[in-house]
Amino acid sequence: MSFDVLAIREQFPILSREVHGKPLVYLDSAATTQKPQAVIDALVDFYTQCNSNVHRGAHFLSDEATRRFEAARDTVAGFVNAAHREELIWTSGTTESINIVAKGMAQRLQPGDEVVVTELEHHANLVTWQQACLASGASLKVAPIEDNGALNLAAFEALLSANTAFVAMPQVSNALGTVNPVQQLIMLIRRLAPKALVLVDGAQGVAHSTVDVQALDCDFYAFSAHKLFGPTGVGALWGRRSVLENWPVWLTGGEMIATVTYQNATWGPLPSRLEAGTPNIAGAIAMAAAIKWFQQFNMVDVQRHEAELMARAVALGNEFEGLRLVGNAPDKVGVYSFVLGAGHPADVGFILDRQGIAIRTGDHCAQPLMKRLGVPGTARASFSIYNTLDEVEQLFVGLRKAQEMLA
Ligand code: PLP
Repeated sequence: MSFDVLAIREQFPILSREVHGKPLVYLDSAATTQKPQAVIDALVDFYTQCNSNVHRGAHFLSDEATRRFEAARDTVAGFVNAAHREELIWTSGTTESINIVAKGMAQRLQPGDEVVVTELEHHANLVTWQQACLASGASLKVAPIEDNGALNLAAFEALLSANTAFVAMPQVSNALGTVNPVQQLIMLIRRLAPKALVLVDGAQGVAHSTVDVQALDCDFYAFSAHKLFGPTGVGALWGRRSVLENWPVWLTGGEMIATVTYQNATWGPLPSRLEAGTPNIAGAIAMAAAIKWFQQFNMVDVQRHEAELMARAVALGNEFEGLRLVGNAPDKVGVYSFVLGAGHPADVGFILDRQGIAIRTGDHCAQPLMKRLGVPGTARASFSIYNTLDEVEQLFVGLRKAQEMLA
């Protein structure tokens, strides 16, 4: 499909609504993307036509739900280029995916082991590892960034050693938009830290680049549907089969067992051994619908469009006295984080909201990163496939007003 932003917008019902009597300008896609009609339809269709539990029913609807649910797994596994469909574990989202890995790893880490993360982490990929280290006696090493928000590659490399047991890093920073050279970093890890397992936090990466877990050569890749035009409350953990097969079980209960006695239980095969309980069936099916919807576009077009939006924001911001862009790494996606004079980001967000402009303000679940950058928080506009250059301009009109009001 050719890239026509106005035609794309028409597929998102919410984008035509008003807030505070003004047309909505939605610039908060890094928090969650809006949902196209195709995804909304997939949810409604499941509940109106097919609702039933999966895997355990002896009736027509359960069979159909199971088929749709497992077909969704194929779609999502194919989206990240998994070698095997059972490598794709349904979760409630990136946070749960990372927790499955970190909680399992905590049982394996020992004093003397090192876990490497970066200064860019979202709390989901920091607190999890910090707690795994506290529980196991391993040490947490934090790879520093440059002042522009790019990872300091030499410092990252220097942290890798035979003691490195795990490396967790974001593909893209939610707070700054920095894109990490993940493939290059993993090559370094394989060379310098041969025993390390590697997790890529793909929460912000999936909607801005093609993902190929085999080419990346990571061991785990975590992502959420809701940052990818899908519903909230569902996501996935991809894990290398040979690693996942022996991974400590996460939740215990129905579906994940092979045999149970009153005294003991044995675990079933992948993927069910890591999927206890009734899954978010409609969510998984709608996640696959979101991916199919997204895949109709050429990623080069998507990236070009977002780069144009970002370039316009940067150009307008450069002319805006008193506005400071936070994070200008050479490789970054459509996240425009900034501070406006002495104005508190929350006040800026409030004033923009009254004009119908939705942005995010605060620490973006990255308190240590904000501290490192010397700001209490930022205001963050984030762009997606459905945003227009006009909306970027409206942001800056709104910011003028904010500046006047806060003067
Ligand atoms: N990692 C990053 C980089 C994120 O941006 C987010 C959410 O903003 C998460 C992890 C957590 O994702 P979720 O809240 O969908 O579990």
